[in-house]
Amino acid sequence: MEQLIRGGTVLDPSQNINGRFDILVKNGQIAAIAEAIPETGCLVLDATDKIVIPGLIDLHTHLREPGGEAKETVETGGRAAAAGGFTGITALPNTNPVLDDPRKISELLALAAKAGHVRVWPVGAVTKGSAGRELAELALMHRAGARAFTDDGHGVADAFVARNAMLYCQALGVPFFEHCEDESLAGKGQLHEGVVAVKLGLPGITKSAETVMLARDLILAKETGCRLHIMHLSCQEGAEMICCAKAVGVSVTAEVTPHHLLLTEKAADGYNTNAKMKPPLRTAEDTAALCRALADGTIDAVATDHAPHTESEKVGDFSSAPFGIVGLETAFPLLYTHLVLTGRLSLMQLVDRMSTRPAAILGVPGGTLRPGAPADLVIIDTTTEWVIDRTAFLSKGKNSPFHGWAVYGVPALTMVDGRIVMKNNRTW
Ligand SMILES: [Zn+2]
Ligand SMILES: [Zn+2]
Repeated sequence: MEQLIRGGTVLDPSQNINGRFDILVKNGQIAAIAEAIPETGCLVLDATDKIVIPGLIDLHTHLREPGGEAKETVETGGRAAAAGGFTGITALPNTNPVLDDPRKISELLALAAKAGHVRVWPVGAVTKGSAGRELAELALMHRAGARAFTDDGHGVADAFVARNAMLYCQALGVPFFEHCEDESLAGKGQLHEGVVAVKLGLPGITKSAETVMLARDLILAKETGCRLHIMHLSCQEGAEMICCAKAVGVSVTAEVTPHHLLLTEKAADGYNTNAKMKPPLRTAEDTAALCRALADGTIDAVATDHAPHTESEKVGDFSSAPFGIVGLETAFPLLYTHLVLTGRLSLMQLVDRMSTRPAAILGVPGGTLRPGAPADLVIIDTTTEWVIDRTAFLSKGKNSPFHGWAVYGVPALTMVDGRIVMKNNRTW
C-alpha cells in the first residue's frame, strides 16, 4: 500500500526541512521526501496550498475513562484528537478509579487499541489513588506501558514522597510530570488573585501557590537526577525559575497550554466558568512572558490539558463549577493564528513545540518525517477561515472559552501509521 502526498509545503523541525516536497508513504512508514516523486499507481493525496507536518503529540490529555464517560471516553477523545491534528495523546491517570496499577494501565491500552484513531500513551499515578501518601507500583506500571507518572489534579504535596517518586522515575528513565500547586496556598481559590477576583468577590490563587512547589521540585530534581516535567506553567516567575534551573543543569522541561498563552484573568469576568481552570489564567504580562519563553525554548512544549466536563457541570455558579476546559480540537489553529500569523513564533517553532519536542520528552515515536519513521502526519489548511463552534466538537466536552473565535490553520487530514484517521473532520 503506497500513498503519495503531493505538492505540500513540508515542515519538519527534526530534519530542518521547510519547502515544497512530495512525501511517499509505504507500508505505514515515510519512504521518501523529495521533489516531484513519480506516481506509480499509488493513492495520491493532494496537499497543494497546504502544509504537511509531523503529527501533533499532546503531553496532557484527560480522557475521563473509566468513571467519567459522560464527559469523554477513550473513543471520543481519540476522535477529537484526530480532528485536532494529533496523532498521539497521553491518558492522564485522574480517572475513577485512578490509573495506579499495571492492570488498569493494560485496560486503558486495550480501550485505546479498540478505539483506533490515534496513539494513546498512559501516564500512571505517582501515589495510590493519587492520594499523595503511598507510592504506586511505578515499575510494574512502566512495564505495562506507562510512559510517565503524575498525580495531576494535585501536586505531590509531601516532599519525601515526591523525592522518592523522582528516584524511581530516574531509575526507570521516565519523566516525573508535576502539577505544581501548594494547596495550603491555593486554598479555596477560584481564579487568579488579581483585579477580576476582587471585582467578582471570589477568593484568589496566588502565583506562589504554583512557584513554591516548582522551586521545591527543581531542588529535588537536581538532587535526584530525575527528568522533571512541569505541567501547565502559568506565570512569568515560573518561566524565569525554569530558565535559571536549566542554566545550572537541572533536567527539567516545561509545557504551556494554549489558554495560558492567549487568555488572561479577564476571560473569567462575568463569572465565565469556561475560563475557570488550574492553574488560573493570569495577567497580560504573564501571557507575554510565557510566549517569549516558548519562543526561546525555556518552555519546551505546548500541551492542551484537555479537560472535558459536562454542560450541566459548567452552567452552574462559578464556585461550584469544575476546573478545566477542552483543547484538542482548537490548539493548533489558535496558536497558528495568534502566534504564527502575528509573527511571535515561527511555524517551525510551533511544530517543534507541538510535535518534535513532546515526542522527545515522552520518549515515543513520532515528531519526525524522517524516512523509516511511522507515517504519523497532518495536512493543514492555512487558507480557509474556521469560526470555532463548540457545538460541532467531536469531543463530548463543549467547555471552551474560544467559541466564536475566527482562526486559520485547521487540520484537513490526519494520518497515523499510514492510515487516514481524519479527513475534513470525519474520523475513522
Ligand atoms: Zn493539572
Ligand atoms: Zn490536567
